Amino acid sequence: MTEQLPAWTATVLGYPRTGADREAKKALEALWAGRADLASTERALAGVRAATVRRLNSLGLPAHDASIPSAFSAYDQVLDAAVAVGAVPPRFADVVGEDGRVDLAGYSTIARGRGADAPLEMTKWFDTNYHYLVPEIGPGTAFRFADDRGVREFSEALADGFLTRPVVVGPVTFLLLAKAAGGSPEGFAPISRLDDLLGAYEDLLTAYAAAGAEWVQLDEPALVSDSATAGVEGLAGLVRAAYDRLAAVEGRPRLLVATPYGDPGELLEPLAATAVEGLALDLVRGDVPARPELLTGKTVVGGVVDGHNVWRADLVAALARLRTLEGPAARVVAGTSTSLLHVPHDVTRETALDERLRGWLAFADQKVSEVVVLGRALGDAAAVREELSASARARADRTGAPGVVRPEVRERLAALTPEAFHRSDYAVRRLAQEEALGLPALPTTTIGSFPQTAEIRRARAAWTRGDLDQGAYEEFLRAEIDRVVALQEELGLDVVVHGEPERNDMVQYFAEQLDGFAVTAHGWVQSYGSRCVRPPILWGDVVRPAPITVPWSTYTASRTPKPVKGMLTGPVTILAWSFVRDDQPLGDTARQVALALRDEVADLEAAGIGVVQVDEPALRELLPLRTGDQPAYLDWSVGSFRLATAGAGDATQIHTHLCYSEFGEVIDAIDGLDADVTSIEAARSRMEVLDDIARAGFARGIGPGVYDIHSPRVPSTEEIAGLLRAAVASVPARQVWVNPDCGLKTRGYAETTESLRNLVEAARTVRAEL
Ligand code: GLN
Ligand code: ZN
Repeated sequence: MTEQLPAWTATVLGYPRTGADREAKKALEALWAGRADLASTERALAGVRAATVRRLNSLGLPAHDASIPSAFSAYDQVLDAAVAVGAVPPRFADVVGEDGRVDLAGYSTIARGRGADAPLEMTKWFDTNYHYLVPEIGPGTAFRFADDRGVREFSEALADGFLTRPVVVGPVTFLLLAKAAGGSPEGFAPISRLDDLLGAYEDLLTAYAAAGAEWVQLDEPALVSDSATAGVEGLAGLVRAAYDRLAAVEGRPRLLVATPYGDPGELLEPLAATAVEGLALDLVRGDVPARPELLTGKTVVGGVVDGHNVWRADLVAALARLRTLEGPAARVVAGTSTSLLHVPHDVTRETALDERLRGWLAFADQKVSEVVVLGRALGDAAAVREELSASARARADRTGAPGVVRPEVRERLAALTPEAFHRSDYAVRRLAQEEALGLPALPTTTIGSFPQTAEIRRARAAWTRGDLDQGAYEEFLRAEIDRVVALQEELGLDVVVHGEPERNDMVQYFAEQLDGFAVTAHGWVQSYGSRCVRPPILWGDVVRPAPITVPWSTYTASRTPKPVKGMLTGPVTILAWSFVRDDQPLGDTARQVALALRDEVADLEAAGIGVVQVDEPALRELLPLRTGDQPAYLDWSVGSFRLATAGAGDATQIHTHLCYSEFGEVIDAIDGLDADVTSIEAARSRMEVLDDIARAGFARGIGPGVYDIHSPRVPSTEEIAGLLRAAVASVPARQVWVNPDCGLKTRGYAETTESLRNLVEAARTVRAEL
């Protein structure tokens, strides 16, 4: 460690890893498909890293002061940490080389599985739409600093002329996010291994120091999350002890500990009490510490630029926030609240976007420029007066622009009375629906989508390019619906769907049809591994200029005498999978989307569609990380679903679909949705979730998924019948629906047809036993 503090003034906590043209994604997928070898894939990934470092430098982060992060990952940063510390599950032990290194092929195997060896489980990263791989830690996991890929990446940048700041998931977060490995004793908690893990982190820091690193960033986002820290006793003491130990490593680099996605609250104190040199605070979600003296003597990265959304910052307000840190902190650095992983690369490429809207946006590159300006402003605000006023002008332009505020939308919302959120009693609805629909016991249905075949994707691409005209495309889609309807009739499903062939994505499709949204051409964001999504941008008041799904659903109903289920995406999920305006409360925006959907439900009903499903797979995704914030969230999210659906008459059956089975924490909210039928994932937990449902006294229809659609495996009739018998044993049979776990869009027709045939057969079998 050199004596002189490097004079950095600005930084970002991380940067997108897929490459501006998704080069990393393409390289990895080529490797997996056997179209590329290891060496050429490594070269492609190194190319993305080199381009990133150069880009960050050209945007104003200096080459030699460690303000450029080395935060690359070929798949996931938590998997990187697991591999670095030797926490590879025994079933993959063979992919670890004698030197402890894991090559890209082995690394991919842990991430993606191999035959009967299941991959690491994947789950959501805090309140984002990024998914990480869950380490499996047992009492016997032998931690040692084993794989030095991160160090080699740092050295590679250094050789290229850039002294970067390596970024590693911190040890406390690593263990708090891990799960107990199979076979661990009852009650074993991975965090109990912290002491052993620290030895590996000590060696890792020593290796970085030997390679010449001045700073290392350790990410500890778990410290801001109540669910990550729930049930851990004496966490403050563990944090203190861990960082005391790491701070004592001889000759180590300086440490920057980051707590993105929220506020570390009381855990800031033990962290700050250690000799770590730097703290990176999220000042978008979190607050300037109530006790600023905790920051005394530290380098503090003030995360004032939102790493998680796409709006240009209010630089004047951001600068004022940074200044409040200046008293106690030894140095204040302008930073992002989180890694820029969650935003696309560069808004200047979005040439098809409305120019005025483009002027309000900041993607990753623009956010780098924002922190650079703020860093300069900390030294001399006058030097960047022009940039500060440009930022203020952009904010002001947004406020007054047409479409941002539409009086008719505001008036309609303001005039809502409590009745708009309430339907009749369920008992009344149930009778009306039984009469209207005449369904058998254990009715069968699907979650909405049928396989999106190569043919469908080709037709959509041709239509998007303009090679297929509107009329021909619609004709193609009608033919597709005919096929899907005929198949469902042949199989004997009771409630028929149209199969969603017209949808590129369940959120983007609606965003394209609603005013107030824009979609991007290059706005890809990593969801997990090589998978990227392109979230729409919700910028203005939401209006439905015309019915969206009604023509498709009515066409479907004209092809079958069976009840047809209309299919909508719910307001919370539309918000969760979009970049949402930050100039009004989320609840207000959700209610605007809900009103548009409410009109769609009314139009479907008027067109004779008796069943409407409003999907909310993301209901749990936006759940705040602090339990204290959760009631307010559940209030507006549940309220917006009810606003979308409560206009339906008694005889119209409202369904909802949720993609997960961890029901416990939100069961009241699910009850609060007041849907007539709720379908959920259940096959992987072998219907265990039904116990929660029975315990909670949930009295409406419930469709526990009877088979997992994430794999091509065909469940047998007997297997499904067994699950149904378990279902009717814990919940009254008249509540139970029979359906797969989720939509079928990622499956092929061969396994889908077989699986659904068995599903219908199993329902008939168990129905006869009632
Ligand atoms: N209706 C959607 C489908 O079937 C639901 C998908 C989801 O829940 N993610 O594809
Ligand atoms: Zn689902």
